[in-house]
Amino acid sequence: MGAHELDSTSDLAALKRVTERFAVAVTPHIRALIDPSDHSDPIARQFDPSIEELHEAPEELSDPIGDATHSPLPGIVHRYPDRLLLKLVNVCPVYCRFCFRRETVGPGNQGLTGDELDAALNYIAARPEIFEVILTGGDPLILSARRLAKVIARLNTIPHLGIIRIHTRVPVVDPGRVTPDLVEALRGPKPVYVVVHANHAREFTPEARQACARLADGGLPLLGQSVLLRGVNDSEAALSDLFRTMLTARVKPYHLNHLDRARGTSHFRVPLEEGQALMARLRGRLSGLAQPTYILDIPGGHGKVPVGPLYAEKAENGEWRVTDPWGCVHAYGEGASPQAAAGVKAPPERPLAGADAE
Ligand SMILES: *Cc1c(COP(=O)(O)O)cnc(C)c1O
Repeated sequence: MGAHELDSTSDLAALKRVTERFAVAVTPHIRALIDPSDHSDPIARQFDPSIEELHEAPEELSDPIGDATHSPLPGIVHRYPDRLLLKLVNVCPVYCRFCFRRETVGPGNQGLTGDELDAALNYIAARPEIFEVILTGGDPLILSARRLAKVIARLNTIPHLGIIRIHTRVPVVDPGRVTPDLVEALRGPKPVYVVVHANHAREFTPEARQACARLADGGLPLLGQSVLLRGVNDSEAALSDLFRTMLTARVKPYHLNHLDRARGTSHFRVPLEEGQALMARLRGRLSGLAQPTYILDIPGGHGKVPVGPLYAEKAENGEWRVTDPWGCVHAYGEGASPQAAAGVKAPPERPLAGADAE
């Protein structure tokens, strides 16, 4: 039940408890997009608080993907050797009702102080194995172009960093913030990949598409990340629409995330099996470019893994059973080379003729 269909004072009191527990914010751009006459509007469902958030399931966690266990110092989450998160701010222009950081973000939550930012940048500079820094939060694009430019400039001085990545919802929820100055602030010698979080095709308004175009025209590659959400995009039609719309906005779908188990989010949950069935139905019907990887972030901080449908299984006779996009199963043998039969590694392939030439 959304805020717009409350029918009693006890519901209002319950809603007040929700808003005291979890931050609420909606931009004017998103407000204008919501259809107040539609009680199941997929945009409203993502941003308007609901009394269903008071229901907490036993498996829900305050820190579902274990940010805290991998945080060596404020603002840094370092779970993989080659990349880490740098959380500059803990505020967003909107607060998604299913956010996995809903217990750590909100208005008034301090971002990094100058000293903490220095310490975080020193941590990165001291570790040559770090190839990629991912700015997230909170939403890093809520910062002014001037402050972003400073952070990007400092990251650009770290020789071993290969790329910078930014995870943001700003291009779709507050597209006016993506000014030429902001685009300029992100440009530098190191490539900046921008991952746009959007869950419904309607989020790509003409203004949002222009914001994406400004980023893409500025030379910043755009990727899409979405969350599979009950009542928002849990159908083949909604997902097809979303991923195709992303492509037309020059955003390549990257991850479709299985919903993390944040507190008070069970009304958004879609079972993994249903997610796999949806992904299987998109395969073969949508451009390969429109197919994100379906991802589970294993609760407790054990990392992200693909959990999409399996297309190849080993059969008893040693052959593979491979399922095509239309559901038919085919045997796929790899030939009976003596090495394969004996479990011996085949010798390296002969280089191509052209490669021999020099
Ligand atoms: C999600 C996440 C990443 C990025 O993972 P990719 O699979 O590279 O998109 C990196 N570090 C942490 C801690 C994360 O939660």
